[in-house]
Amino acid sequence: MFATIGLKLLLILLAQEYDAMRTSMVRNQIINRGITDKPLIEAFNEVPRHLFVPFEYQNYAYEDRPLPIGYNQTISQPYVVAYMTEQLNLSTTDKVLEIGTGSGYQAAILAEIVDEVYSIEIIAPLGQHAAQVLDSLGYTNVHCKIGDGYHGWAEHQPYDAIILTASPSTIPLPLIDQLKEGGRLIAPVESGGHQTLVLYTKKNGQLKTKKLLAVRFVPFTRSHP
Ligand code: SAH
Repeated sequence: MFATIGLKLLLILLAQEYDAMRTSMVRNQIINRGITDKPLIEAFNEVPRHLFVPFEYQNYAYEDRPLPIGYNQTISQPYVVAYMTEQLNLSTTDKVLEIGTGSGYQAAILAEIVDEVYSIEIIAPLGQHAAQVLDSLGYTNVHCKIGDGYHGWAEHQPYDAIILTASPSTIPLPLIDQLKEGGRLIAPVESGGHQTLVLYTKKNGQLKTKKLLAVRFVPFTRSHP
């Protein structure tokens, strides 16, 4: 019985420590760097990032960097997640498609802000694990699928916003088709060995382009036919 009380106390103390780390991450890495969107800041305060990284990295979850999540993939640096999400200029009623579920962290941040999130991951064990974590945290508005995100998720189109968290050299045409008129798409686009974060807006069926900043993401891969 004392052992159980001891364990419970330890878990409570650990949770408090992660809460404190999260509070300082939000202040130092998000607010102090110019993110102002209230629902976005609230989302960062809510989502327990340490539960989205492998156990051995939980202590580093609130640091200012990406972390390995297995299978040569990474969870992005918190600021990059915040910046990309803010650029999408989301409304609560939006439906968002994410390509590259990875750890599920970005999907959880989106799910705090918008009504419905659809997320596709090409590496099955990663996508399955992310879906379990999201489910265990009660994110009923995130819908996960294993597959090649190149094709998007036609069944639920059109999307108000689309986010690619792996780096392609061009934007897959099906994603442009599945984006609503006036919708936003953000992607780390690769060209000549460099990646640039690009924000696209769909106007009259065409994409208007705005280059944002230099970034480094894992490559966008394709499944073999
Ligand atoms: N958004 C993630 C970041 C994961 S890294 C997070 O918050 O943790 C990018 C992910 O994109 C990797 O897991 C990689 O496997 C996945 N990916 C790469 N190419 C893909 C494709 N064609 N379709 C779907 N997912 C892809």
